[in-house]
Amino acid sequence: MSAVLMTVTDAQVAAQQVMSRCDSLAEISETAGQLTRVYLSPEHLRANQQVGEWMRDAGMRVWQDSVGNICGRYEGVVPGAPALLLGSHLDTVRNAGRYDGMLGVLTAIETVRYLYQREIRLPVALEIVGFGDEEGTRFGITLLGSRGVTGTWPDGWLSRPDAEGITVAQALQSSGLDADAIAQAARPARDIIAYLELHIEQGPCLEQAGLALGVVTAINGARRLNCTFIGQAGHAGTVPMSQRQDALAAAAVWMAEAEQITKASDPYLVATFGTLQCLPGAANVIPGEVRLTLDIRGPEDNALDALLQRLLILAHDIAHLRGCDFTSDEYYRIAATGCDAQLQQRLSAAVEQVQGTTLLLPSGAGHDAIAIAERWPVGMLFVRCRGGISHHPDESVMMEDVALALQALLQTVLSYR
Ligand SMILES: [Zn+2]
Repeated sequence: MSAVLMTVTDAQVAAQQVMSRCDSLAEISETAGQLTRVYLSPEHLRANQQVGEWMRDAGMRVWQDSVGNICGRYEGVVPGAPALLLGSHLDTVRNAGRYDGMLGVLTAIETVRYLYQREIRLPVALEIVGFGDEEGTRFGITLLGSRGVTGTWPDGWLSRPDAEGITVAQALQSSGLDADAIAQAARPARDIIAYLELHIEQGPCLEQAGLALGVVTAINGARRLNCTFIGQAGHAGTVPMSQRQDALAAAAVWMAEAEQITKASDPYLVATFGTLQCLPGAANVIPGEVRLTLDIRGPEDNALDALLQRLLILAHDIAHLRGCDFTSDEYYRIAATGCDAQLQQRLSAAVEQVQGTTLLLPSGAGHDAIAIAERWPVGMLFVRCRGGISHHPDESVMMEDVALALQALLQTVLSYR
C-alpha cells in the first residue's frame, strides 16, 4: 500500500479553499439571499467565468464549450494524451444548497492545483468540466451539459421553452452561443479514458455509518407509473360495508402491503406513492376511483423489474378481491447506471487509505455520470452531508470530510501514474 500523498495540513488548506469557493459561488444567484442558478442565465455565465479563472490559476487551459460547459485541461507528460475527466455541475435547483454539484468541480480544481504546484505530470491529461445543466430547473429536461459532451441531445431539445417561452436555442444565442454548433461540444470517445465525479451523498447512509466517504456502485434506475383503482362510487350512508367496491380501501391496502414487501426486499430498493387523488372526493361518497403514482428505484434493473412486477400483480389481486379494477401506465423509465468495476476499485483503495475503511453504496439521485456512462467508464465518490439533506439551503458538509475527500481524490488520480 502506497503512502497517502497529500498531507493532512495540505488537505486542510485545500479544503478551506474549496469551502470558501463554494461560498463565493453561492453568491452568484438570481435571487438575493438564496441560491438559484439556472442553465444559460447571466449567473450561470458568471459562475463559468469565475470557475474558469480558478482553473487557469491551477495551470489549466480553459474554454467554454458550445453548450455552455466550462472546461479546463491540464496536460500530461506528453501533450495531447487522452484525459481523465473530473467534474460535476454548476447549475442548481431553486433555493438550493451550495455543495450539490459545485463541490465536485471545486475539489477537482484543487486536485489539479496540487499537481501543478509540484510540477507533477501524469501519463494521462486531466480535464475538469463544470456542467451547465444537470438539474433541469429551467427547461424541465436534464443533463443538457453532459449530453452535450456525449453528443446525444435529442431532437426537440433546442425548441424546448422555459417558463417565459424562451427556447433553449434562444437562450444559447443570448449567451453568445450558437444553436447550430452544439455538436462541437461532443468529445470523441478516444479523448477521454474515464469520468470521475465527486458529489455529496444526498442521503443519510454515510452519516449513519459514521464515515466521511463512500464509493458509488451504481446510480439507481427508476420507473414511474400512473395507477388507477376503479370501484363503484356510492352513498356513504346506505351501501352496506359488505357490498362496497371502495377504490380507496383497495389502494390503501396496496400501499401498505407494497411498503412491507419493498422493505423486506433488497435494502436499496425504494418505492414511493407520491400522489393520491380520490374521486369523486366528497366526505359522504364512497370513493369510486383512485389515481395514484408509484415511483420505484434501485441500483439493479433486474431486481427493480422483479419488485415492480410483484407489486403490480398484488394490485390486481387486491382489486379483484374487492370487486375493483386496476390499471397502470408506466410513463417514465430510466435504466440503472453501473459504475465501472475498475474505477470502483481505484476509488475504494484510495478511500481505504485515507479513511481506514471503505463503504460501497448506490446513488439514489441522478447525476451527470448517467449520461457520461453511455460513452465512458464512470466512477463516483460520495461525501457525507449533514442529515442527508440536499436541494435545500441547509445542505451542509464538514471541512474535515472535504479534506479527506481531497486526499482520496488525489490518491485516485495518482493511481493513473
Ligand atoms: Zn448534483
